[in-house]
Amino acid sequence: MTLPEHMELEFFGAAGEVTGSCHVLRIGDRRILLECGMLQGGRQQAARNREPFPLDPESLDAVIISHAHIDHCGRLPLLVRRGYSGPVFAQQATRDVARVMLEDSAGLAERDAEQESVKRARKGLPPVEPLYTVDDARQALRQFETLSYDDCREVVPGVRLRFIDAGHIIGSAIVELWLSEGGYECKLVFSGDLGQRDTPILRDPSIPDSADLVVMESTYGDRCHRSREATLLEIASVLRGADHQQGNVLIPAFAVGRTQELLYLFSKYWHEWDLARWQIFLDSPMAIRASDIYWRHRELYDEEAQAMRAEHEEMPKLPNLSLSQSPEESMAINRIRKGAIIIAGSGMCEGGRIVHHLKHNVWRPECQVLIVGYQAQGTVGRRLVDGESYIRIHHEAIRVKAQVHTIGGLSAHADQSGLTEWYEAIPGRPPLWLVHGEPGASAALREHLLARGAPRVIVAEPGMRIEMARLPQVHRRANQA
Ligand SMILES: [Zn+2]
Repeated sequence: MTLPEHMELEFFGAAGEVTGSCHVLRIGDRRILLECGMLQGGRQQAARNREPFPLDPESLDAVIISHAHIDHCGRLPLLVRRGYSGPVFAQQATRDVARVMLEDSAGLAERDAEQESVKRARKGLPPVEPLYTVDDARQALRQFETLSYDDCREVVPGVRLRFIDAGHIIGSAIVELWLSEGGYECKLVFSGDLGQRDTPILRDPSIPDSADLVVMESTYGDRCHRSREATLLEIASVLRGADHQQGNVLIPAFAVGRTQELLYLFSKYWHEWDLARWQIFLDSPMAIRASDIYWRHRELYDEEAQAMRAEHEEMPKLPNLSLSQSPEESMAINRIRKGAIIIAGSGMCEGGRIVHHLKHNVWRPECQVLIVGYQAQGTVGRRLVDGESYIRIHHEAIRVKAQVHTIGGLSAHADQSGLTEWYEAIPGRPPLWLVHGEPGASAALREHLLARGAPRVIVAEPGMRIEMARLPQVHRRANQA
């Protein structure tokens, strides 16, 4: 039997880096984009988002999205703006969260372009176009076609799709694809982003029952998180140790995932952590919208969260929680000197309302800052974690006297042992390609897996192609057929 013309996976983005997840599947004459993520992290990365897609958007037949984080779906509106009019397949809750993420991202892009254009006008230069507009985002959302977990759907002839739970954020999916072309059949498993086991609210990542090849993320391929118990003890000791009669507690948090987990944990440990003495503020319109989606999709909860939901009318049950929608409500919090726990974005303190709260609190030794998420190099959050004595906010140097606590164990990603366990549970240890990691993290995970007997582990690079019909597993099946 001759090899089919095309049964190929090509790595494009998030190969050798963490953001901009995007891969291309060519099955015969059909073209599928697996993920359409935005590049993040500084000006240079942002500029790359305007570069061409790996193929002409008009020539695409389908797009598949694993979850709603912006580095996995953030370029969808641009794809649509450039001519893609076909379906975008995603889990149901992913569409709901993507609505919040893409509208927010488009709004930011419009404001950025407006400001830049004003500056350029003063120099006599023509205005700049936004990366995409809110209208583009809304059009992209209209193209979504949703599936529940475990549903099977033929997305184009010869390509069947199933999502199973990845336990990373609400709606996050592991993508299973059954491909058939020219007498060959192949099952590709793409991990998306894998969650940690025992994450609050969500179920543990599902294990695919088979695969001919696996593409897996490797964000934390080189490290292990602190245990869940140690993490909870850490949070408890900070909150119990903080003096509500003296100062405030600030928690910079990402709007989707971390915020809801924190609120859930606050509800669960309300008595143990003595939270009644605080006034808790969720100061982020985006996090408030994302929380609504989390609380609505109770069918996706793990057993414990289902039980909590059944017991309480509302989620989470926090009598002292205030939601701050308007800028005025947010500014009012600035006047509170003590007794407030303030959850606000952005998660790395690079913008958003947390910046104002830092300005009003971080120079006061009686205040606390609780860092619960990853802080990239060069961000204000990272400077806090690194113990720097000053941070710059709005061109002003501000002394850091508040106590800064870094809680490492709340990550939304599986660590080295989690990734290893997940891969090794797939029958037959199929050939594995690693994506979505800094080169060091992917290389460390590769070494680790090879040492444990994995037969074939490859760190994906941009432009690398896998001709799937040439894989021994796929041959065998074709010969049997
Ligand atoms: Zn993610």
